[in-house]
Amino acid sequence: MNNSVFMGEMTWQEYDAKLKAGAIVIIPLGALEQHGYHMTLNVDAVCPATVSERVAKAVGGVVAPVIPYGCKSQQRSGGGNFMLGTTSLDGATYISLIRDILRDLIRHGARKFVMMNGHFENQAFMIEGIDLALRDARLEGISDARAMLISYWDFISDPKVLEYLYPDGMPGWDAEHAGLMETSIMMAVRPELVDLSRAVQHPSVKFPLYDVFPPHEDWTPAPGTLSSPEGSTADKGELILKTCTEGIVAEIKKEFGA
Ligand code: ZN
Ligand code: MN
Repeated sequence: MNNSVFMGEMTWQEYDAKLKAGAIVIIPLGALEQHGYHMTLNVDAVCPATVSERVAKAVGGVVAPVIPYGCKSQQRSGGGNFMLGTTSLDGATYISLIRDILRDLIRHGARKFVMMNGHFENQAFMIEGIDLALRDARLEGISDARAMLISYWDFISDPKVLEYLYPDGMPGWDAEHAGLMETSIMMAVRPELVDLSRAVQHPSVKFPLYDVFPPHEDWTPAPGTLSSPEGSTADKGELILKTCTEGIVAEIKKEFGA
């Protein structure tokens, strides 16, 4: 049939054969969140799905369908959940979603998981979902299921790469929301979803050291970006994807074997 790495593009028998061969199942975790005037709402899903596909090709893994909704956007890392278009799940829903998906994957024989996160706010609820799924599995006598949780941007850590991407200094991953990193990746893989001419140049937002609820909406710049995407290029996006893929593949091999 085909050589797709995507679970949804396999027959159940092809999928079964991959699991029996010990394949790692990679789950990209996105969000539907505004990304400024210059990019579409699906950035947090496209980026981890792209990294997941590249990693799967390198390790013989299977990519489960990307989860297109995420946990509530927080003002200091994603502009805030009040922003138009940002459409999120409650934490309890998200925990159940992760738990349910992992339960069935484990029931069918998957034992090695990589949770490839693309939206900062998913992290804590995902950890809880993973914990509950592994606890459920242990109660059923399955004790060898293991999951790695990865936020792909953590692998952009080579000082030379950082210096090239951010010659004036890195604004911090929180302020990167819809900034140079995500914009460059989108320019590399989905250029038709980016229009840099609509971007507003502004310095990285300096938020106070606390959150407030409900948020002061005027703390978030009008476009919804937290730093300027100025200087984004498809070449930088390719470099980011290469760096992340190589780094993640190396760590997966350490955890799960080659
Ligand atoms: Zn984002
Ligand atoms: Mn996000």
